[in-house]
Amino acid sequence: MTRLTVVRSGMPAPNPAPGETVLTYDQFRAELRTGGLMKRLFRAGESRLLVHRVSSAGRPLATALALHAVSRGSVAIEDADGRRREISLGVLGRWIAELALEPLQASVVSAHVMGGCPLGPDPKRAVTDPSGRHHHLENLYVFDGSLFPTSVGANPQLSIYGITAKLATELAARLTPRRLG
Ligand SMILES: Cc1cc2nc3c(=O)[nH]c(=O)nc-3n(C[C@H](O)[C@H](O)[C@H](O)COP(=O)(O)OP(=O)(O)OC[C@H]3O[C@@H](n4cnc5c(N)ncnc54)[C@H](O)[C@@H]3O)c2cc1C
Repeated sequence: MTRLTVVRSGMPAPNPAPGETVLTYDQFRAELRTGGLMKRLFRAGESRLLVHRVSSAGRPLATALALHAVSRGSVAIEDADGRRREISLGVLGRWIAELALEPLQASVVSAHVMGGCPLGPDPKRAVTDPSGRHHHLENLYVFDGSLFPTSVGANPQLSIYGITAKLATELAARLTPRRLG
């Protein structure tokens, strides 16, 4: 049986057993971006996430949720002391129900929300054309982080400034060619 083991940052990676693939958290994130992780999870009969302490496993909730959502096999969280918790929809549901919902207590956030209106020439695959104009609404332009195909995985502010400066300058030139020219 194939097994995929993901190791949280700061933990030693175990030697892989026969049929097992061990990924550090950085490798896990890199493979998530390239799509390679999906193929691995689809093949794996079993996946496990190694964490510091299962008892505080609310923190890797998002990773466990992602593993469970895309795995065909079983998913478990294990810690260095050998404690193990099988991940089922019931367990995930209870964790989510236990999350504190007061402001700034629940840590399910993204500071880099991007990719809501991706840019591209094909209206079937993109919301705006390469100039940022909406494919189906002629007088609507989008100039912000939503133009990217997805979240870029790094601090995006300068890239957003860059694409917005380029597209806004081009639009301004089209709207007032003589004054800017
Ligand atoms: C806590 C935090 C820390 C971050 N740190 C960094 C960092 O260190 N480096 C980095 O590169 N990135 C950082 N980012 C990410 C970066 O700030 C965002 O990716 C970037 O600001 C997104 O730019 P945007 O123009 O797409 O959207 P926004 O900056 O969110 O702009 C959207 C604008 O639309 C306005 N708006 C919304 N609805 C309407 C409406 N109906 N009508 C009119 N206006 C509306 C909003 O008021 C807002 O001004 C951070 C984000 C957060 C939340």
